[in-house]
Amino acid sequence: MSEVLLFSAGLDSFPAWHFLGRPPAVYFDLGHRYAAQERHAITALAEVCGIEVAISEELRLGRWEAPDAIIPMRNVHLAMLAVNRADVVWCVGVKGDATLDKSPLAFEDMSSFISRLSGRPVRVDSPFWDMTKTQIISWYLDEGLPVEHLLLTFSCSRTDGDPTHCGTCSSCLRRWISLANNGITAPFEAPPWQWSRVQDYYVPAMREGRYPAHRAEEFFTALATIEPASTPHRRKGIR
Ligand SMILES: [Zn+2]
Repeated sequence: MSEVLLFSAGLDSFPAWHFLGRPPAVYFDLGHRYAAQERHAITALAEVCGIEVAISEELRLGRWEAPDAIIPMRNVHLAMLAVNRADVVWCVGVKGDATLDKSPLAFEDMSSFISRLSGRPVRVDSPFWDMTKTQIISWYLDEGLPVEHLLLTFSCSRTDGDPTHCGTCSSCLRRWISLANNGITAPFEAPPWQWSRVQDYYVPAMREGRYPAHRAEEFFTALATIEPASTPHRRKGIR
């Protein structure tokens, strides 16, 4: 069966390209606010790794992008268009992802209704439902793949076109956690562990079980890698 990977040059879809044996990829530029940085990262990764990636501007969903960068039913739109290119569409979700259009159940539903409405069997799936971001990076490193390629990926939702990771968005926080837990120091404009929402929201939310246990464990493991003097929370305790 033919296959295609939905590629965004992010910290999930780049290792997925290796994990799946380097399949053809497609990137949908939706006209969303961080498309420029993603395209910049795609060009860089395609050059150094030889990724066969088609750039498509067929879908201009940026019109529906919410302030938090969510585009409703984004993955449904992408899957419906991607099945014109292949029978198997790899859309990368990771363990614990449970947004309405990105979960094992959502992908099963999509596979079923797109197969029925297109008149042929198609499959929408992720290779990483059983792996966390930290485990994905760990797999990548175990394969002996280069860290510098990993750092060319872009996973930030800043909207000003700057290609530097902001360090103050949830995407940057997740990026930092998975890299820090694998001993990788990555550049951020501001240290993600000092982002105000870490202490104000994430620490209590993780403690109270509002996230899956593995997310909380990896969050606190990453925080523990920071020198006490670097975290405002602990510095207060020392004084
Ligand atoms: Zn960011």
